[in-house]
Amino acid sequence: MGAGPAALCIASELVQQGLKVNAISSNSPETPWANTYGIWAEELASLGKESLLGYRWSNTVSYFGNGLEPKGILPVSHDFDYGLFDQSLLQNSLLEKCQGLKWQVETVDKIAFKKRETEVTCISGNIYIARIVIDAVGHKSPFILRPDKGPVAQQAAYGIVGRFSSPPVDKNQFVLMDFRPDHLNEVELREPPSFLYAMDFGQDIFFVEETSLACTPPLPKKILEKRLYSRLSHRGIEIEEIIHEENCLFPMNLPLPYLDQPLLAFGGSASMVHPASGYMVGALFRRAPTLAKELAESIEMKPPLDSLTLAKRCWKVLWNPELVQRHRLYQFGLERLMSFDEELLREFFIAFFKLPKKEWSGFLANTLPLPKLIVVMLRLFYMAPMKVRLGMIGL
Ligand SMILES: Cc1cc2nc3c(=O)[nH]c(=O)nc-3n(C[C@H](O)[C@H](O)[C@H](O)COP(=O)(O)OP(=O)(O)OC[C@H]3O[C@@H](n4cnc5c(N)ncnc54)[C@H](O)[C@@H]3O)c2cc1C
Repeated sequence: MGAGPAALCIASELVQQGLKVNAISSNSPETPWANTYGIWAEELASLGKESLLGYRWSNTVSYFGNGLEPKGILPVSHDFDYGLFDQSLLQNSLLEKCQGLKWQVETVDKIAFKKRETEVTCISGNIYIARIVIDAVGHKSPFILRPDKGPVAQQAAYGIVGRFSSPPVDKNQFVLMDFRPDHLNEVELREPPSFLYAMDFGQDIFFVEETSLACTPPLPKKILEKRLYSRLSHRGIEIEEIIHEENCLFPMNLPLPYLDQPLLAFGGSASMVHPASGYMVGALFRRAPTLAKELAESIEMKPPLDSLTLAKRCWKVLWNPELVQRHRLYQFGLERLMSFDEELLREFFIAFFKLPKKEWSGFLANTLPLPKLIVVMLRLFYMAPMKVRLGMIGL
C-alpha cells in the first residue's frame, strides 16, 4: 500500500525476490513526489547509488556562533559532500525494478485479517486478498497499531526556492544548519529554536528553509515564515521571486509499531524516520533487501504461514533488537535536545561536529553498530562543555 519512496523501495525488492506483488496507492506511482530528499553523498555511495543525485555540494558548512563579530560568524566546515536526489531519477530507477508489478490506483479503506490471509477493502468497494500486506502509506497510517506515548515531536519547516537581491549563501554552498540568532528579539530567543537549511541551486536560484528540528507542539508555519523573513532582512537580503514554497511537517519520534500485528509496514508508517535527523531514504535502501529476503523465504514455508505469522517474522527482521535499541537511544537524544534553549543547542552542535567525521556521519545515518553508537554518545558527553553535559542528563 502506497507509492512513496518506501512503497517503491520495498516493492522493487519483493519483485527482485520473484514474489507476486500487487500495489495499491491513492495516486499513480508515476505521480512526481512532492518532497525533495537530501542525503550525505558518502551514505549514498556506500549503497552504490551516487548517480541518483541531482545536486551535490562539497562546500558544506553550518553556523553555530551567536552571529556577532568576530568569532560568532565563522562557519564550521563539514568537509563532507551533501546531495539532493534527482527526484524523477530516484522514482524511475525504483519503478524500473518493479517490472511486472500490478498497480491499482485506489485508496485503502479497511483491512481485515482472515484465518490465513488479509483482506483489503478500498473506498471504491473493491476487495483485494493477499498472503501478507505491507503498509507504506506514510506516517499518518490509520492502519498500523502503535502505543500511545503522548504528543509526538514534529519537524516543521517553511522554505522558499527563489531569487534574492543578494545570495543568501555563498556560491556552490550548502548550509546544513545556520543557528545564528542575532536577528531574534528577547522574546523570540526564549521560544523553541529554529535554524536555516539552505543551498545554492545555481543560476541565481537558492533554497532557504527555516527549520525546527523537533518540537511538541510543532512550530507553526507563520512563526517559521516570520523568522525566515527576519533572518534574511537582517542580512540585508530581499526575496525577489518565489519559484516554489515548501511546507514540511512530519513526526520525528513516532513510537515504534507493535511488532506482533498482522499488518507489516515499511517507511514512515513503520517509524523508520531517524528520530535525531529526520532522514529516512538511506535506511529504506539499506533495510528493504533484508526484509524482502525474509518475506520471500517465509512465504515459501510449508505448511503455508498465515498473515500474522508471516508479519511477525518480518517485523522481527525490520526492527531487530539491535535496531530497536539504537532507535531508543536516538529518541532519548532527541528528547534531551528538545529541552535545550538556543544557546545550549548551538554549544551541543559545536561539540557534535567535533566528533570524528565517521562518527557524526554514522550517527546521522544510523549506520553505527550499537556498541559503537554507545561509545560515540559517551565520547560526545565527555567532549561537551559542562552545561551541555548537564542538559544531556536532564539537570
Ligand atoms: C517535506 C519533507 C521533507 C523531507 N525531507 C527528507 C529528506 O531530505 N531526506 C530524507 O531521508 N527524508 C526526508 N523526509 C522524511 C521521509 O523520508 C519522508 O516523509 C518520506 O516521504 C516518507 O516516505 P513514505 O513512502 O513512507 O511515505 P509518503 O512519501 O508519505 O508516501 C505515502 C504514499 O501512500 C499513499 N497513500 C496514503 N494513504 C493511502 C491509502 N489509504 N490507500 C492507498 N494509498 C495511500 C500516498 O498516496 C503516497 O503514495 C522528509 C519529509 C517531509 C514531509
